[in-house]
Amino acid sequence: MEITITKAQTLKSKPDDSKLGFGTLFTDHMFNMDCDLGKGWNNPRIEPYGPFQLDPSTMVLHYGQAIFEGLKGYRTPDGEIQLFRPRENFARLNRSARGLCIPELDEGFLLESLKELLRMEKDWVPSAPETSLYIRPTVISTDPFLGVRASHTYRYFVILSPVGAYYAEGFNPVRILVTKDHVRAVRGGLGEFKTPGNYAASLYAGEMAHREGFAQVLWLDGVEQKYVEEVGSMNIFFVIDDEIVTPMLNGSILPGVTRDSVLALAKHWGMKATERRITIDEVADAHAGGALKEVFGSGTAAVISPVGEMKYGDKLFKIGDGGVGPMSQKFFEAIKDIQYGHAEDPFGWVEKI
Ligand SMILES: *Cc1c(COP(=O)(O)O)cnc(C)c1O
Repeated sequence: MEITITKAQTLKSKPDDSKLGFGTLFTDHMFNMDCDLGKGWNNPRIEPYGPFQLDPSTMVLHYGQAIFEGLKGYRTPDGEIQLFRPRENFARLNRSARGLCIPELDEGFLLESLKELLRMEKDWVPSAPETSLYIRPTVISTDPFLGVRASHTYRYFVILSPVGAYYAEGFNPVRILVTKDHVRAVRGGLGEFKTPGNYAASLYAGEMAHREGFAQVLWLDGVEQKYVEEVGSMNIFFVIDDEIVTPMLNGSILPGVTRDSVLALAKHWGMKATERRITIDEVADAHAGGALKEVFGSGTAAVISPVGEMKYGDKLFKIGDGGVGPMSQKFFEAIKDIQYGHAEDPFGWVEKI
């Protein structure tokens, strides 16, 4: 498909790389593409970034039929721009599409069109340490219709946001709250898809956690509230003696690209890394017995987020000395070095634009 390009009349002034936050600034252009039952995905175009008009009856506003992705563009030391495992994101977007009855997209075309957008917006990719250009591909249902069914029309769009170093004040451990009162997802539901509904389901518990001084919620399984699933927008890892454990993908956990990268690196280094069911009681027992060495989250935004403290019921667990453990540090550095082109990439994960 030919991509139509309409350039912005005036360009925005670029922000200072050293003062970037997260998700507040957007570049000059965006990518748009439409879908209807007759034509399928059509009319791919790069246009000036801006609001779009939606009829108040637009289905996505009422029934939440939408999916999204999150990945980043990184500037390498030689000034080039590269993506980290973007094909995984587009494959996941299509799995989410199938899960939400959205017509599948051509993954090769999505990657090519993203590269074209990035080449146009390359000056927006910041170069200060640990900064990047966050990429948000999204699909929304657009039929102006009240009534529950899959929409007949959709819009795919991609917006870009220059983002700052996640750990501007250094690599900081977070406190997380394990909740038994709320659930995010259940097997057979939408937990394994990247869809806004999972976030809507997480807000109430998240607000409660913030009020108590915790950064995020650690979700247990939706049926028995016994097995650990994931944290807010991150997957979770436990280092128990010399074993690195993460909950196995069971249908209600989001299959993170960073999670998969941690597992691949651990295997590459000859470490014992296991995907299995793990109960919160096993974590508590490991902590009580001194075997729980580290806990960390994994996700595109922070890469690795060490957990310093966990609260479960009335018990407060301090993990290690509450600081950053050696495993968290090792995975953080290794993944970041590949993403930014500071180290060899033995896995073929990076992709130049
Ligand atoms: C996106 C996301 C993750 C992390 O996935 P990455 O591909 O590593 O960024 C984890 N959990 C949820 C619920 C997510 O939406």
